[in-house]
Amino acid sequence: MSGSQRKVLAVGAHPDDIEFMCAGLLALVRNLGFEVHIATLTLGDCGSLDDPIESIRSIRRREAQDACEVLGAIYHPLDFFDLCIYNDDHSNRQVTALLREVDPSIVVTHSPQDYLSDHETTSTLVRNACFYASVPNYKTSRRSPSERTSSIPYLYYAHPMEGTDIFGRPVSPDFYLEVTEVFKLKTAMLSCHKSQREWLRIQHGMDDYVDSMRRWSLALGQQASARSAKDVEFAEAYRQHRGHAYPHDQILSTLLGKCIVSASGLEPESSAPGSFDQPQGSKI
Ligand SMILES: [Zn+2]
Repeated sequence: MSGSQRKVLAVGAHPDDIEFMCAGLLALVRNLGFEVHIATLTLGDCGSLDDPIESIRSIRRREAQDACEVLGAIYHPLDFFDLCIYNDDHSNRQVTALLREVDPSIVVTHSPQDYLSDHETTSTLVRNACFYASVPNYKTSRRSPSERTSSIPYLYYAHPMEGTDIFGRPVSPDFYLEVTEVFKLKTAMLSCHKSQREWLRIQHGMDDYVDSMRRWSLALGQQASARSAKDVEFAEAYRQHRGHAYPHDQILSTLLGKCIVSASGLEPESSAPGSFDQPQGSKI
């Protein structure tokens, strides 16, 4: 695997989304030597009852930067506004520019089904950008160092809030990822988002947002334990994008096999040895 391929990019709609949904995965691959990039499409300008827009954007940008520093990640704040993330031409080119700038081998984002349109649309924009970034004639709206990415990256969707779609139906993950060994770090990252404590208590009914994440991670750990011979304390859950032209092999099983529990209760398949050295390219 070349150095440039050891990059993971996580894209969330708002500051703190990454910490809730996939900071454990990021910490585990960082420990394998991956360069970690975190992007937020917005700066969370609606995540306050009291602070005006520019003030809360500044506060939340600082908190997201602090969380990235806990992990040793590179932060990419984009210029979208809360509740204004749309699947339109400008937005697709903005997110594609991000993909070209980072050129990651693995991408993580929101579930296509989640409680908030911002999350679902971010998921769609990231899915599109993973493909569009490799197309040389697709021009982006801001400068990026290359005209196309080297390949379509592996794309993973994190579990939706409370594990359900908007009808309350369970969303079934492909696999659980045990994050117990990096859970302190995940907690430290989320704790950086101090401005959200009151907001999440009043708007989302979370008595304590860090403890809420802890209880949710324990619940996913219990689901994983029920499908495994071992006890899993804290877990995250994921699905892999397996549409045409995206890489299908289970690279996270190859990289993090000891932490993976298949949601079907079957042993996870590993990628063929060396397959990560030869990522699939765009074939259109
Ligand atoms: Zn969010």
